[in-house]
Amino acid sequence: MGEFTAPKGTKDILPGDSPRWDRFFAAVEAVYKNYGYGRIDTPIFEKENLFARGIGDGTDIVNKEMYAFVDKGGRKIALRPEETAGVVRAYLEHDLGRSNPLVKVYYKGPMFRYERPQGGRQRQFWQVGVEALGSADPALDAEVIDCALESLGAAGLEDLTLHINSVGCPTCRPGYTKLLRAYVQAAPDKFCQTCLNRAETNPLRVFDCKNSGCAVALREAPLITAYLCTDCADHFASVLTALQFIGVAAEPNPRLVRGLDYYTKTAFEIKSTALGAQDAVAAGGRYDGLVEQLGGPPTPGIGFAVGVERVLLATETIEQPATRPDVYVATLGPKARRAGLAAARLLRRGGFAVAVDFSDKALKKQLNYADKAGAAFVLIVGDEELASGAYVVKNMGSGEQTALDPESLESWLRSQRSEGT
Ligand SMILES: [Zn+2]
Ligand SMILES: [Zn+2]
Repeated sequence: MGEFTAPKGTKDILPGDSPRWDRFFAAVEAVYKNYGYGRIDTPIFEKENLFARGIGDGTDIVNKEMYAFVDKGGRKIALRPEETAGVVRAYLEHDLGRSNPLVKVYYKGPMFRYERPQGGRQRQFWQVGVEALGSADPALDAEVIDCALESLGAAGLEDLTLHINSVGCPTCRPGYTKLLRAYVQAAPDKFCQTCLNRAETNPLRVFDCKNSGCAVALREAPLITAYLCTDCADHFASVLTALQFIGVAAEPNPRLVRGLDYYTKTAFEIKSTALGAQDAVAAGGRYDGLVEQLGGPPTPGIGFAVGVERVLLATETIEQPATRPDVYVATLGPKARRAGLAAARLLRRGGFAVAVDFSDKALKKQLNYADKAGAAFVLIVGDEELASGAYVVKNMGSGEQTALDPESLESWLRSQRSEGT
């Protein structure tokens, strides 16, 4: 390897991989559009304090994982670690809610977090997701979750499980977190230091601890479900009923949490057995307090984000159709190459995928390249063909050769194509 390599935690998407990415985006975007979402593209960097407010000052994402810097104008800038804050910022800045009581947008793009790179987890990673702003209706929660599942299904993921919980609201959650804090602090020797710290600052997040000892110690912990206020309990029940009604299986998981105040009520994760139990391929929930937190009027919202690399990892074994040229143009000599180039240009305009050989190798070698590329036909152009005005087209499947004048190439290929399908 030379002096320059891609920075740690980043990956090139090479031409051999990009068709899988393209197919993934085409599949999920078609689903998002069918569910009424329009695409939004926000800047890759924003003012740093947007994320401090929109994700949370006390979070690992903001404190430890954010790519933040001062630009040449002295502005504090950060690469976006997620997209919800940017979407809400744009929603407010353009007053999108004024003309539309329910604003539905989807996004796709790279996000940035300074984390330890591992399978399906990069420092520059891609997300797609949706945000729906303006409705507190529990039926919307069911629609958003259904949309997430359908899009992942369209991307080729099978064996998806939906884990769902309610994380309460500012009315009911403080009472519960007090109980949870007391529970952890009553047995300090059974918990790791991180959990003890979290018990102080953000008790719900003790459920995110991967330490098996902590998990055991949390078995008897009070669960939020029993402490929800009537509003939150009713909302959660309605979401579950709506999901059941439309035929979406859900696994309530009272240990699924979001650590911040403006995350309210519904929280969910979608897991794929293809990745094992650890990682969710998508996560989302309600954030009825976020718009206000970012300076807007009280506006309920809900959304989810999909980790694209993780989905592609989980669908790696699915056979993908390769992209192949319809026609490979073998050219013998500079004059023939120009003629081949002209023929290729016309065929491409006619909708054919055409590769031109620039190797200047012997015909046999060029036929090998064509075979490797998976071309259906090879157009052979040499001095002989130029002189006679008849190009030779070889059918790579049957080996059959046909002599054609350049003008009739396109219609002949078209007739072959319709015969083949
Ligand atoms: Zn509540
Ligand atoms: Zn722990």
